[in-house]
Amino acid sequence: MSRQIVIVGGGASGLTAAIMGARLGARVTLVEHMDRVGKKILSTGNGRCNLTNLRMEESCYRSDEKGFPMRVIGGFGVEETLGFFRELGIEPKDRNGYVYPNSDQASSVLDVLLWEASHERVDIRTSCKVETIEWIKGENNSFYYKICTTQGIFRADALILATGSRLRRPQAPTAAGTSWPKSLGTG
Ligand SMILES: Cc1cc2nc3c(=O)[nH]c(=O)nc-3n(C[C@H](O)[C@H](O)[C@H](O)COP(=O)(O)OP(=O)(O)OC[C@H]3O[C@@H](n4cnc5c(N)ncnc54)[C@H](O)[C@@H]3O)c2cc1C
Repeated sequence: MSRQIVIVGGGASGLTAAIMGARLGARVTLVEHMDRVGKKILSTGNGRCNLTNLRMEESCYRSDEKGFPMRVIGGFGVEETLGFFRELGIEPKDRNGYVYPNSDQASSVLDVLLWEASHERVDIRTSCKVETIEWIKGENNSFYYKICTTQGIFRADALILATGSRLRRPQAPTAAGTSWPKSLGTG
């Protein structure tokens, strides 16, 4: 039986993680507390969405942990990003190293992510609020996540918290979104 992944947060990160997980054969449920997913994508790059940048190096980022940004980017760099979007039908356009979709429309980026998530049979639950998350010991020393939401209880082998940052409202995560990792011992 394939593994079940629950992703909390339907922004660019949650949608991409959902597609990747489903492509690897997992059953994926994505839980979003707003009435639609990917809302912030629409306002990125002044409505054009700066997909990626050709120049990405240590000095471009701030972090409390030196090396952390490049370690993350090294796992999925500019070539992988361009390849991922090309595969979904987005032809990139380079403007002085800043890469946009050729359409200059952030909505085209959201459209292809939603199309692919649907194609990969990701179960997207909007207006779905997570109430509690527990890590439960199952049979044979196995563990699973029990996620109680306003649309029922989900059980997951893996949980991805993709609730974004607090910088912008109303898409900013709820207090619960940022305290869960600590309460689960992963923050
Ligand atoms: C004005 C502006 C322009 C930008 N332009 C660009 C750009 O051109 N290119 C670029 O790469 N980046 C850009 N960024 C940054 C980019 O928007 C973020 O890096 C990106 O959206 C982060 O994606 P995310 O999925 O991590 O978080 P988010 O997009 O914030 O998504 C998080 C999602 O989780 C949901 N959520 C939160 N808490 C909960 C909860 N408790 N339960 C369920 N769901 C929850 C939220 O509703 C939201 O849908 C821009 C940012 C701003 C503010």
